[in-house]
Amino acid sequence: MDGSGRIVVQKYGGTSVADPERLRQVAERVARTVADGWQVVVVVSAMGRTTDQLLALAREVSPSPPRRELDMLVSTGERVSMALLAMALDRLGIEAISFTGSQSGILTNDRHSGARIIEVRPVRIQDELARGKVVIVAGFQGMSYKREITTLGRGGSDTTAVALAAALGADHCEICSDVDGVYSADPRVVPEARRLESIGYDAMQELAEHGAKVLHAQAVEWARRSGIVLHAVATRDPPKAVTPGSAGTRIGPETGRDGQPGEPGGGEARVVAVTGSRRLVRARVGGAAVPALLSLLAEEGVALRRLHIDAAGCEAIFAPDDLPDLPRLLAALEARFPGCAVDEGRGEVAVIGAGVGARPGLVARALAAASAAGAAGCECEAAPMRLSLHLDATLVDTVTGAVHRALLGDP
Ligand code: ASP
Ligand code: MG
Repeated sequence: MDGSGRIVVQKYGGTSVADPERLRQVAERVARTVADGWQVVVVVSAMGRTTDQLLALAREVSPSPPRRELDMLVSTGERVSMALLAMALDRLGIEAISFTGSQSGILTNDRHSGARIIEVRPVRIQDELARGKVVIVAGFQGMSYKREITTLGRGGSDTTAVALAAALGADHCEICSDVDGVYSADPRVVPEARRLESIGYDAMQELAEHGAKVLHAQAVEWARRSGIVLHAVATRDPPKAVTPGSAGTRIGPETGRDGQPGEPGGGEARVVAVTGSRRLVRARVGGAAVPALLSLLAEEGVALRRLHIDAAGCEAIFAPDDLPDLPRLLAALEARFPGCAVDEGRGEVAVIGAGVGARPGLVARALAAASAAGAAGCECEAAPMRLSLHLDATLVDTVTGAVHRALLGDP
């Protein structure tokens, strides 16, 4: 296939740009795509573990750093990668220019450390593409309407890439990392997990929202809204734009293979994947405190994973990953809600696929597998595309493996 002027967005994760040698390999991969006639926009993550290191550094200076300053700090990681990749391309004789998120016209709301992209105005990118250049964009960051630098939450470079692909009318967006696609479970936890040829937006979004780290949930949301097809591929494999038949997972509109509704009534649902979250926080308060708890969580920018309200009160479960000031939130919970019970060691195992939560037989098999793996009596919650088991964090990996074996079988 020949791109002949069409636009492709390629996003490279932290491992793919971890050192100079790997940056050179990425530059060569980009060069192959350019040689095939494509206009290429590259979105890069920070090198290796840079973001973690910067966050740790901040915490050594202050246990609860201001979010604005955290964004100023961590957004530098991606700037390092973008400049180095531009240099690597220059060395190959390819004209390239790097831009920060704000230079790329990525406008966000003003929620530091977990901003949402509101609008993309990629004028400078379009100008440079028209000049025949490869444009490299620092992922994970944007600028608020107040002209402040913001970041999009952990894993947010995926969202930068998809939002840009949508704004530029790209042919597709390739998410390149050290794994060659989306698996039926995290292969590090479940060795027999299988790579999915394709997965629908709906199932992918449930997966991303319930612990799978392969794709940022907001990225899937953008893709679905704009109809951009994503390919999750390994950086070591050839570009999809050049070799469409190479390995990877296609994320797009439901195709009738994965994520397709099961037969009505007693028919089989289609289990696509099993995913686990090992680090969740649960807060429980009595009935009268429910509105106050919700407004505190809203102030702190907490995204709820689960909310259960009944006559006795309210239980809220959330992932603390995007909360740089979790200690402050925990202190506020303790101060404002004297009877509040907080458990930082919760986990979730979620079975994803159309109809899974509606099939009693399937639920029973999942529960039996969980129980045999040590999670007898765990709380269970069903939704149309998902079945969630809420349990102790220490049980998540074992139960993920057991439920995967029970529902998706051995290879
Ligand atoms: N560097 C950021 C992170 O580690 C963003 C990303 O890689 O997508 O979360
Ligand atoms: Mg990622």
